[in-house]
Amino acid sequence: MSEQDCLFCKIIDGEIPADIVFESKTAIGFRDINPQAPIHMVIIPREHVATINDIDAAHEALVGSLFSAAKQVAADEGLSEDGYRVVMNCNEAAGQTVFHIHLHLLGGRQLRWPPG
Ligand code: AMP
Ligand code: ZN
Repeated sequence: MSEQDCLFCKIIDGEIPADIVFESKTAIGFRDINPQAPIHMVIIPREHVATINDIDAAHEALVGSLFSAAKQVAADEGLSEDGYRVVMNCNEAAGQTVFHIHLHLLGGRQLRWPPG
C-alpha cells in the first residue's frame, strides 16, 4: 500500500520523523514542517492516493475519515469555536507539492478569503 519515494508514505512507515498529533486506523496527522498559521497540521490517509483525481468510490470512507480526524485535531488544539480552515490542493496549479492526498488544517489566526 505504501508507495516507494513518497514522502508521506515514509512518514507513515516511520522512515522519516514527524511531529505526529493524531493516529487512527485509517489516518495520521502531524505538524506541517513549514507552517502557514500558528497551527498548521497535515492529515493524511494511511493508504497512498496521489491526488483528488485518484479518489474513487472505494475511498469514500477513507476520505471521510480525514475530516473526522480534522475535527478531532481542531478540538484538541482549541480551534473548534474560533474556527479553522481545512483545504486540499490538487495538482500544480493549486500548489500541490506532495502527491499523497492530505488535508491542511490551519488555524490560530484570522484567515483571509479568497486565498491567493
Ligand atoms: P501541498 O503543497 O499541498 O502538497 O502540501 C504539502 C505540505 O507538506 C506543505 O505544507 C509542506 O510544508 C509539508 N511538508 C513537506 N515535508 C514535510 C515533512 N517532512 N514534515 C511535515 N510537513 C511536511
Ligand atoms: Zn504516499
